[in-house]
Amino acid sequence: MELANRIQQVTPSMTLAISAEAKAMKAAGIDVCSFSAGEPDFDTPTHIKAAAKRALDEGKTRYGPAAGEPALREAIAQKLRTDNHLDYQAENVIVTNGGKHSLYGLMMVAIEPGDEVIIPAPYWVSYPEMVKLAGGTPVIVPTTPESDYKITPAQLRAAITDKTKLFVLNSPSNPTGTVYTPAEIRALATVVLETDIYVVSDEIYEKILYDDTQHLSIGAVSPAVFERTIISNGFAKAYSMTGWRVGYLAGPQSLIKAVSILQGQSTSNVCTFAQYGAIAALTSPQDCVENMRLAFAERRAFIFDRVNRIAGLKATKPNGAFYLYVDIASLNLPSIEFCETLLKEHHVAMIPGIAFGKDGTVRISYATDMATIEEGMNRLEAFVKARL
Ligand SMILES: *Cc1c(COP(=O)(O)O)cnc(C)c1O
Repeated sequence: MELANRIQQVTPSMTLAISAEAKAMKAAGIDVCSFSAGEPDFDTPTHIKAAAKRALDEGKTRYGPAAGEPALREAIAQKLRTDNHLDYQAENVIVTNGGKHSLYGLMMVAIEPGDEVIIPAPYWVSYPEMVKLAGGTPVIVPTTPESDYKITPAQLRAAITDKTKLFVLNSPSNPTGTVYTPAEIRALATVVLETDIYVVSDEIYEKILYDDTQHLSIGAVSPAVFERTIISNGFAKAYSMTGWRVGYLAGPQSLIKAVSILQGQSTSNVCTFAQYGAIAALTSPQDCVENMRLAFAERRAFIFDRVNRIAGLKATKPNGAFYLYVDIASLNLPSIEFCETLLKEHHVAMIPGIAFGKDGTVRISYATDMATIEEGMNRLEAFVKARL
């Protein structure tokens, strides 16, 4: 069958592909150290699972409103007001099939052919592909390790044209772990206000922060910025609920209504009993989030130090998320070749930077246990030593 042009121009997710390959090798009995997965290695906290089980037993097994269970929309709005100082009501929130699908819904209802969407690189693999699926044009702005892979206000200003519709901001960042400081967020907000563009803030890693790093949601900068902000978030990363597929989009009511119409004609509601797990996640004590964060913090300290002691590698200090972003330029190997050889010869899985729009780098996910991290870093060191 002749496939539609819209799918032919989409690049498949390299992170999903490499994670699958590493899993297949493991299943075949190979001792693989995998640093490829973009998901916490913890089980979903017990009280969240219990709430979903209870919902099942209570018969929460039927179709619900396409925009989500009213109690969950209310809990999310409350969370956005309390945690992020964003004045949203339930009507400003739609529950989606993960943060990925909330961003997809946004692109589908907001982007017209010809519209430009500004995406700083290294970027999360799905942003440019979603923009293309919507018929828009991704405008990639490369950043450098010197700016901790952050887009500067001058770069943002220079990238804006009369076709720009949206700016995608992701802090803490996947793949770099970079977190914009409140001052940097305010400076970017100033540029947004000089124009009529919107900003979508992907805050899926907001709870995974280290040292005394602060997360400022750009919509909280001022009421004027709030009007131009859309928030995408979800339960996957903070609550270790990747497979549950629950996320959300918050923004102006007219936009949320449009995404709701799209969902009504495509997916309908997110799995009803999964939404009850999400309600428990938001309305219960947050110790589980903090405990996972502490585990990540310990691994981060170890791996950052360990990688930077390997001659030829240079890692940027991540202030959030669970990724280490490593410069491999001194090895003069394309990042795909680096990762393929490392996986084949040393059974270590990482994601090539080219997947995030920046060759000469790799992403190491440290959402795995310390023993794997220690062994994997030994193998990485042996590999790099032999290549230099
Ligand atoms: C994981 C992730 C998401 C969303 O994941 P879901 O599982 O769909 O909730 C969104 N943005 C980034 C940057 C991510 O890493």
